[in-house]
Amino acid sequence: MVKVVKFGGSSLASAGQFAKVGEIIRADESRRYVVPSAPGKRNDKDVKVTDMLYGCYAAAEAGEDFKPKLRKIKDRFDAIINGLHLKTSLEKEFQTIAENFEQKAGAEYAASRGEYLNGIIMADFLGYTFIDAAEVVFFDEKGEFDAEKTNRVLSARLKKCDCAVIPGFYGAKKDGTVHTFSRGGSDITGSIVAKAAGADLYENWTDVSGFLIADPRIIENPEVIQVITYRELRELSYMGATVLHEDAVFPVRGAGIPINIRNTNKPEDKGTLIVEHTCHHSEFTITGIAGKKGFVAVNVDKDMMNSEVGFGRKVLSAFEENGISFEHMPSGIDTMTVFVHQEEFEGKEQQVLSSIKRLAKPDTVDLEADLALIAVVGRGMRSTRGTAGRIFSALSHANVNVKMIDQGSSELNIIIGVANCDFETAIKSIYDIFVTTQL
Ligand code: ASP
Repeated sequence: MVKVVKFGGSSLASAGQFAKVGEIIRADESRRYVVPSAPGKRNDKDVKVTDMLYGCYAAAEAGEDFKPKLRKIKDRFDAIINGLHLKTSLEKEFQTIAENFEQKAGAEYAASRGEYLNGIIMADFLGYTFIDAAEVVFFDEKGEFDAEKTNRVLSARLKKCDCAVIPGFYGAKKDGTVHTFSRGGSDITGSIVAKAAGADLYENWTDVSGFLIADPRIIENPEVIQVITYRELRELSYMGATVLHEDAVFPVRGAGIPINIRNTNKPEDKGTLIVEHTCHHSEFTITGIAGKKGFVAVNVDKDMMNSEVGFGRKVLSAFEENGISFEHMPSGIDTMTVFVHQEEFEGKEQQVLSSIKRLAKPDTVDLEADLALIAVVGRGMRSTRGTAGRIFSALSHANVNVKMIDQGSSELNIIIGVANCDFETAIKSIYDIFVTTQL
């Protein structure tokens, strides 16, 4: 059994957190490949090392004295080293970093040093081999991730060592320059390493006990999702639920490796298991609820619309012409509604309206702004009767007016449009009917 374990910034923010991570790794000998993030925040007011590095490099680039900022960063690492009673010295590393900053090595190089240095400490702490991600994770000249070369080189390298630490977040281009993934990208590295190692499981350790059924800012102490499929995850993440970097899914999903989200501060919790398929029934019919505010509904009316071939295409062309993507498009007999992001639409509103008039020649077009979309997601809905009925009766009891309903043929989700001001109430009432009342 091989497990790849990735630890997020809050799991590695201090010596105390490192100690917890050490216990977790030592508790299971299959945890052989470790992917660390840079030290994150120790408390709400703290600054992530990655942000300190960006700030320090910006000072270097502006020709200011960046050394005091760099010293503060070194202090963060030294506090971890001293707290763990390690003999690791980062003197030389920091000298090299200072020289490279002077030579303007780039913001991505700067940001990557958080993971790089944390990786060196972690390898020393565990007695594992350190593998610099710049030697095994590759990007092309345009900065696109080179999955084929990375997998080939990385798997050959991992075969040679039983236990290793590979820092997250960065790799290198052909010419050797360091390149990073987007923020939160250590999740992606973890997934890449899991694939290359042919792992049985990719454990992603963070500071929550998995994916929550609903946003904790709206629902107090929501239940954790035990098992979720990749498709359900995609629906919920798209609607704003975040724990994992979206791109982290692809390498392991293709290789059939499940992801387990775990909590470093509560290792006894099982967390959330993310899988391709499962016959595990979700506990509550629905798997999760997520949503976003800030949509506009563009309602287009035209008598006999349904017999006019190509009408829908003409309406959608008006959006395409103006570079606007649409979210949903429920339609009636002689009406069609297109949901778009308010922020994206506002600046181009008049152009879009005139394009619709020119292309589709509708009778009327009207707009409704300040709408929210809520996705109720669950593989369990397919085999359960009355899910939609329960949602709408809960919403009507909560006095929420439903503006739009859209159920995809996959029966994996039901999307509901409500006014922005009803968003929280709607989510609470759906959570209550499916979860609170079932506990
Ligand atoms: N340290 C990087 C960030 O703060 C990458 C990561 O933590 O995944 O975004």
